[in-house]
Amino acid sequence: MDLGEKPFRAKQLATHYFTHLTSDPQAMTDLPAATRDVLAETLFPPLLEKARVLEADGGTTVKTLWHLFDGAKVESVLMRYPHRSTLCVSSQAGCGMACPFCATGQLGLTRNLSTAEIVEQVRSAARSLADGEIPGGPARLNNLVFMGMGEPLANYKAVMGTVRTLVAKEPEGLGMSARNVTVSTVGLVPAMRKLADEGIPVTLALSLHAPDDELRSELVPINTRWSVDEALDAARHYFEVTGRRVSIEYALIRDMNDHAWRADLLGDKLNARGRGWVHVNPIPLNPTPGSIWTASDPAVEAEFVARLREHGIPTTIRDTRGSDIDGACGQLAAEEE
Ligand code: SAH
Repeated sequence: MDLGEKPFRAKQLATHYFTHLTSDPQAMTDLPAATRDVLAETLFPPLLEKARVLEADGGTTVKTLWHLFDGAKVESVLMRYPHRSTLCVSSQAGCGMACPFCATGQLGLTRNLSTAEIVEQVRSAARSLADGEIPGGPARLNNLVFMGMGEPLANYKAVMGTVRTLVAKEPEGLGMSARNVTVSTVGLVPAMRKLADEGIPVTLALSLHAPDDELRSELVPINTRWSVDEALDAARHYFEVTGRRVSIEYALIRDMNDHAWRADLLGDKLNARGRGWVHVNPIPLNPTPGSIWTASDPAVEAEFVARLREHGIPTTIRDTRGSDIDGACGQLAAEEE
């Protein structure tokens, strides 16, 4: 597109977007007033419309429902902690992976998001932190997790475009550290291997949820295509190529996958692939509407964690912030009354 502008305008506009975190033409006072609107409207069309905002934890957890230009809906969740802040973004409207315990999985896939639609979720959150809108004073966005709606590796190009933008130095990007970006996947093995070769050492999370194929194929249907062993081999490969320790996500579902023998089997399968390459994040299941499943008993959860640690596997329970506003893991469903 030729807008008849001098090349230096591109840097000015990038600086507004990535450094000042704004796409508002009125704020771009270093541009001639006559061209501000035209440039901003052409280059920064409104991509996300804030439809609803829900807060929890005294305003330090904020879930935003976005309407996209075509009526598709997605959500993102910002979580501020004392010394860091994390944004959970959506990479797809809905999801095609159909995991039965996940609210988004029940929706089916509407469509992939574009890089710009994902980046705009990030810019918006970074801006509200910078503006001091989140209690605790102005802050920076430190961590980004692709754990909102969608399967990021099923929208590979747009997700990688986002990652490149996040880690690019200002003003070409947000200047985030790759290690603070987490891509979470159901285990799309070829895409995991491709990601390893990108030369951008993001953190990889594998949503395993069961160490045996029989149960995993029920909980994560894509397991019938790529088995537990294939997914774990690809995770180990990711560690070998990038040096980044991989996270294994494991939603603990009462009487479903929380048995001590499954913790032992998981420990054995991880250790069979070496030491020090992986850690496990058990997540108490966040119940979704209509599901008969619920979180494990605390004593069972504790036993599961203890068993993994006995195998020498670093294990930390993931927090379930935002569950009261349906903003916790697996609860994003972009419903509206
Ligand atoms: N498609 C990606 C990102 C999805 S959400 C993936 O599956 O990894 C991020 C995490 O939340 C995944 O580990 C997912 O399995 C988990 N999750 C989904 N539903 C959940 C629920 N109801 N309770 C707890 N965790 C859930």
